[in-house]
Amino acid sequence: MTPFSYEAAASAAEAIEKSLAGGRYIAGGTTLIDLMREEIERPERLIDINRLPLGGISEDAGGLIIGALARMAEVAAHPAAGRAQPLIVEALLEGASPQLRNMASIGGNLMQRVRCPYFRTLDAPCNKRTPGSGCAARGGFTRAHAILGTSEHCIATHPSDLAVALVALGGTIRTAGPRGSREFPLEELYRLPGDTPHLEHTLLPAELITAVKVPHGAYARRARYLKVRDRASYEFALVSVAAALDIADGRVRQARIAAGGIGTIPWRLRASEAALAGTVANETAWREAATLAVADARPLPGNEYKLVLLQRTIVRALELAGEIP
Ligand code: SF4
Repeated sequence: MTPFSYEAAASAAEAIEKSLAGGRYIAGGTTLIDLMREEIERPERLIDINRLPLGGISEDAGGLIIGALARMAEVAAHPAAGRAQPLIVEALLEGASPQLRNMASIGGNLMQRVRCPYFRTLDAPCNKRTPGSGCAARGGFTRAHAILGTSEHCIATHPSDLAVALVALGGTIRTAGPRGSREFPLEELYRLPGDTPHLEHTLLPAELITAVKVPHGAYARRARYLKVRDRASYEFALVSVAAALDIADGRVRQARIAAGGIGTIPWRLRASEAALAGTVANETAWREAATLAVADARPLPGNEYKLVLLQRTIVRALELAGEIP
């Protein structure tokens, strides 16, 4: 591991100042320390933000507010989260392992790096790790890689289950930075790889995620997160779907759907959502919506199976959501 300095910040202002001077934020450390051990990341200065008052979970008239330093397990067990946003709880419990969920922060979960094996292999070309070096995944082992949002330069999937659920629910993030505070949709946090896959998010230098807000919605109650993976625990998604439905008198008033494991960013399925609005809530509608989800997909020989798996997972997630009384 490359030598680094460690210091704790006592306030957001102090953390931002230290970050502007070259420090890297660390909270639970469940991603960053792994990457530092493997020398994929080599920060020279770590700024521990765990003393900042950014934990806790609360609710206001607009929605559920989750502090960026709240731990995954803490949020999953919180009564307000279970009552107001069961999709968030389900997505959190489908991620990582109990030990990791006890340690990993909500902000860190949203900022975690990709699980592409070539990104984590120092002698493999990887545009995300070393811009301009190439992409070993193209022409390599692509079974777990993306079919949507890819570019010639990167095909890695975004790994967060929580982000998929939040995108489906229209979640926003609050931040603090050198230019003050702001709040914006989580969808706007993530960048498509394009020809700059090393640029993964839209945060400004030293900008710090302070909280996540999940708006109340009539669809929040009928919501399910379905994750398909190689083993039942401690594994990333091959395909996942977050589906939330507002149904009245047997018809869909509004659908919110996002998918993971298939996109280079958490992937909102807007065409499927639009197709479901106003339809009778039944299997025919679920299947038609699923067909639209893969219209823009660009699979590779190793991950063509995701075209079918994604559609089947959408149908099943919508079925499960629609069955909630
Ligand atoms: Fe690197 Fe992306 Fe290619 Fe993986 S898919 S090797 S992360 S550039």
